[in-house]
Amino acid sequence: MYESLQHEVIIIFYESDNRPSKQSLDESRPTHFPSFQISCIDAAQPFDYESHLKNHYIQSTSLKIAILGFGNFGQFLSKAFLRHHHTLLAYSRTNYTDLANQLGVSFYSDPNDLFEQHPDVVLLSTSILSTETLLQKLPFQRLRRNTLFVDVLSVKEFPRNLFLKYLPPDFDILCTHPMFGPESAKTSWAGLPFVYDKVRIGDEENRVKRCDKFLGIFEKEGCRMVEMSCMEHDKYAAGSQFVTHTMGRVLEKFGLESSPINTKGYETLLNLVENTKGDSFDLYYGLFMYNQNALEQLERLDMAFESIKKDLFGRLHEVYRKQLFGDNGEVDKKMNLPQKLLGNGSLIEPPLDNVRQDGS
Ligand code: NAP
Repeated sequence: MYESLQHEVIIIFYESDNRPSKQSLDESRPTHFPSFQISCIDAAQPFDYESHLKNHYIQSTSLKIAILGFGNFGQFLSKAFLRHHHTLLAYSRTNYTDLANQLGVSFYSDPNDLFEQHPDVVLLSTSILSTETLLQKLPFQRLRRNTLFVDVLSVKEFPRNLFLKYLPPDFDILCTHPMFGPESAKTSWAGLPFVYDKVRIGDEENRVKRCDKFLGIFEKEGCRMVEMSCMEHDKYAAGSQFVTHTMGRVLEKFGLESSPINTKGYETLLNLVENTKGDSFDLYYGLFMYNQNALEQLERLDMAFESIKKDLFGRLHEVYRKQLFGDNGEVDKKMNLPQKLLGNGSLIEPPLDNVRQDGS
């Protein structure tokens, strides 16, 4: 391969007016050196098309992303964004300069300075509870018109309404929820759900492309992309995510401990505690406070727990009665049937026929 890079070199000397010099044309001083060869290994080429094209591609696909809130989740996201060659800037109330430098993120302690860098995307990764206070003091006037605002809050209707209330009408809005975190997506994001709602994206090609480029990061990481309204998200998330976090916290308080005979089910519970205990209480409280469906789910959980206790104590009661009164003691047959909760928390009464059949 290197043979093709060997060159014969012909040297011709030129005068300053570009005429070949006498000296070089002199017969006694041959201008042709047949034995003189340069063997080049990895010589710099006058124009490296490959790297030029690569740089051009990176520039055309990369975004300047400003992350507001450089805590647990903000840092986690920025590592992935950097893998995709985006330029990262960050602002947070805590000074993360050293950590940001290590990661390759430019850190700003003042949002004015950050916004003067004119990011393409401003991504909100603050706690749910602090979102409104932060939005109220952001210097939007320093940004370019129609900057894209994105949030990653674990509730969706709340930031959507805040964005619509506080952002200038020219700005684009994308509400998202990556439904995973630093614990659950430690090794890969492949197959994990990413929910998004294009709340307000302008028609112009560059605005549509900018939004697609941002979503492309999660697509390329292999996320399962789910487009749904913020309202739908909150309905589903209260029944799944809020319940998951609640059970994780209850079990953590309960004090689960690993044993030498862990079953698979028990391992699942230990993993649940592990996955949820890293999240701040602010996050959990935000799920409760700012998802209007959460309270109902908490009440249903409470009633389900009470109902199960009732089933257990009902049976125990039956055993005691049999011991006290013998087999002839009247037993409430309904007690033996598993009971389910309706969506509104009321109990599904078993039909009387069933009671008779089951009891016969
Ligand atoms: P978090 O406790 O919900 O939020 C911590 C972040 O909020 C930090 O950047 C913190 O800034 C900032 N913050 C808190 N109080 C503030 C205040 N009064 N003023 C200004 N900033 C304040 O924990 P997180 O895990 O990093 O979550 C960030 C966001 O991502 C949340 O909205 C959460 O719902 C969402 N999310 C989290 C996960 C997850 O797995 N962790 C997954 C999906 C979505 P400082 O660090 O500078 O104090």
